Amino acid sequence: MKPIAEIYPQLRQTRKICITMHQKPDADAMGSALALHGFLSALGHTVWVISPTNWASWLNWMPGCASVIDFERNRAGAESHLDQAEWLFCLDFNTLNRTKNLAPRLEAMNCVKILIDHHREPDEKSFDYGISDVKKSSTCEMIYDFIVQSGHADLINSDIADCIYAGVVADTGSFRFSSTHAGVHRLVADLKERGLEHMHVHDALFDNFHENRLRFIGHVIMNRMEVLYEYNTVLLTVPKADLIKYHIKTGDTEGLVNFPQTIKGIKLVAIVIDRDEERKWSFRSKGEFDCNSFARKYFEGGGHFNASGGRSSASIGDTVKYFKKVLEENKALLQ
Ligand code: 5GP
Ligand code: MN
Repeated sequence: MKPIAEIYPQLRQTRKICITMHQKPDADAMGSALALHGFLSALGHTVWVISPTNWASWLNWMPGCASVIDFERNRAGAESHLDQAEWLFCLDFNTLNRTKNLAPRLEAMNCVKILIDHHREPDEKSFDYGISDVKKSSTCEMIYDFIVQSGHADLINSDIADCIYAGVVADTGSFRFSSTHAGVHRLVADLKERGLEHMHVHDALFDNFHENRLRFIGHVIMNRMEVLYEYNTVLLTVPKADLIKYHIKTGDTEGLVNFPQTIKGIKLVAIVIDRDEERKWSFRSKGEFDCNSFARKYFEGGGHFNASGGRSSASIGDTVKYFKKVLEENKALLQ
């Protein structure tokens, strides 16, 4: 993988460009894709954003979101753009299998592939150019760097600023996580001067749900939470019946994993959600417990040191049993 800086002089020649991100894109994945879309379009390129799957409807406020193609819903439309692409930007993931059914199509593409990402253990051989930096707060911060370092800071308008800010806020836990280095605050100050409407972004991200989601959260905390004090761990188990009863849609379960972290002394929070196609795990830790290694080793997943995800094809009961077994193996790391 050649350094991202080698792309900067090549931006002068206009091209057909596809941008994609991980499946079920979150605010950082969608924000980075749309900020880059806005920037490259302003430079005169022809740009399409293709999401591997659908996304939470509360991301639809993002400028440009209406033009994003859902690969699972409009395969023909996505394929026709991928066929034409000279460049493919891969944002907020670092192994092609994070794009689910889109992965074989991306693997087979011969165009120039460019990675911009902040997760651990990138599959560098899949990309021609790129930057992978786990010290970065978010992929949105890296898109900001890309725009500024390529000499085009003047092209950051309020739409691009809103998208970048959304990803930074989401991935730093509202400027809370250790990844919030001084440069993140400088970035925000710069965005503010370029038209960022930060209150609008916070409203759109955090105060934009239906009543059912709040009742669902109450139900899960009340009835589906186990506090395993001997492991300083909290487990939330969400069966399919709950998702149906509370009309839970893509994105509605995001953020649930954060609530148990408010209990004093908790080092690991795990949530498993019984989705149609798989049991989806999320892990969050405080301090020295490595969620990335844990998810990789036991749940076919990965991510960051303090936040990761994974999956299981076992039943919800069996995957929970397995979790408790491997928790015992990791007991010493959780004391
Ligand atoms: P979340 O729990 O919010 O879905 O994900 C937490 C972090 O782990 C995110 O940065 C996300 O991209 C990453 N992640 C979630 N699921 C997976 C997975 O199955 N594999 C890998 N490699 N990363 C994941
Ligand atoms: Mn991210």
